[in-house]
Amino acid sequence: HAKQRNIGHLITERLTPAMADLLREIGRAGDELGVNLFVVGGFVRDLLLCRKSDDIDVVVEGDGIDFARRFILKKGGRCNTHREFCTAVMVLPNGFKIDVASARMEYYTAPAALPTVEMSSIQRDLFRRDFTINTLAVGLNKKNFGTLIDFFGAQRDLKDKTIRTLHNLSFVEDPTRVFRAIKFANRFDFTIGKLTLSLIRNAVKFDFFRKLSGRRLFSELKQILEEENPIPAIESLRNYHLEKVIHPDLIMDDSIIETLGAAQKAVSWHDLLYLNTPCMNWSIYFMVILKKCPYQVVKEICSHLRLSPSQTKLILRDRLKAEERLYILERRFPPTNSGLYALLNIFKPEHLLYIMACTRIDRVRKAVSFYYTRLKDIKPTIQGRDLIALNLKPGRTFQAILQSVLDAKLDGKLKNKKEEIAFVQKHHMPVNPDSMDKSVD
Ligand code: ATP
Repeated sequence: HAKQRNIGHLITERLTPAMADLLREIGRAGDELGVNLFVVGGFVRDLLLCRKSDDIDVVVEGDGIDFARRFILKKGGRCNTHREFCTAVMVLPNGFKIDVASARMEYYTAPAALPTVEMSSIQRDLFRRDFTINTLAVGLNKKNFGTLIDFFGAQRDLKDKTIRTLHNLSFVEDPTRVFRAIKFANRFDFTIGKLTLSLIRNAVKFDFFRKLSGRRLFSELKQILEEENPIPAIESLRNYHLEKVIHPDLIMDDSIIETLGAAQKAVSWHDLLYLNTPCMNWSIYFMVILKKCPYQVVKEICSHLRLSPSQTKLILRDRLKAEERLYILERRFPPTNSGLYALLNIFKPEHLLYIMACTRIDRVRKAVSFYYTRLKDIKPTIQGRDLIALNLKPGRTFQAILQSVLDAKLDGKLKNKKEEIAFVQKHHMPVNPDSMDKSVD
């Protein structure tokens, strides 16, 4: 028996007017088509927790693809359909994204071991989900707009701040849920229920992860590392021995956890100053986790997790380069800005932050942040065409000339274009015999 109550006021109070209108519009479109539909899952959970959620998940008791097509025809936007799963993704002209799923009795082939009690199609759809807190639905049709439907005790668990599976075979069905449990517990500061915790320990003990594909494992792992503060979740992974699922030789000791703390500081520093600079924060934490692994193990992990070639390069080769440069920085600190620049200019933000996380020497960390904030974007003002105007012959030497201008500029010796030109004339132009001091002879 589902618990029901009306939360129409929360839709009006907590969502933007545009979002609330969209939900009403979806409901009206459902009425026109004569199908029941619900907004479900994370969106409802976040609404009750007062958290912002952008992605809307809608379940249609009927043909979701047909609904999505008609809705887009009316509203404009794009619609991608997946026939095999009877799902569609609608992207509206204003950027709103709506996932649409079909709940139809004939789609459900209940796993043999699960009880086959009588359920409505929406209930059956929600029963397949990972945790109780993700099983809430809100009616969108006119007759029940705003009615919160709770089949599985989700409201109780939200109130108790507990992550609970719906049944004891949940992790057998899908072991990635173990990682999702840790992600949600960390994100909302919830605890994992006692029974669910023992099911996790069981999953590890009997290695339910054997058949889990590397791709799915990576997707869940990456989501954990993309959280605002992933460290408690990483510590949970370690406490439950889940690092062994990534690779049997992966060891996460206390010093790794300490370095992860330093990585988080570097990431927060960067997010604050450079919010719009793309930076794959997950990769910084991931590099720290792999820090003590031999090359071959990291290679195996990248291949098992199906990292793309560019991700593999970032994690494998570029990381080693960063460690190499860090080694130099910690032992032979460059005396000039241009020397510091030469050491660091090959790196993307991810590796600069990785270096900042790895060093225990304050001076080195400060030097990297100084490079990032003050040196990284310095360029010579003069360009090739200025050199041509000085009657220099274009060729490979141009690069060397511009480099020497850049170095002088980095070291604070050149303040403006005029000084740069004078610098080139002094250091890179053939001496005019007429202008030589005759007294030398
Ligand atoms: P997030 O805020 O991280 O996106 P979410 O709850 O919206 O969290 P999604 O990963 O977008 O999660 O999944 C959408 C919904 O699909 C979830 O609310 C959950 O009910 C369901 N779901 C996702 N993955 C699984 C899974 N492995 N097993 C069962 N249900 C799942």
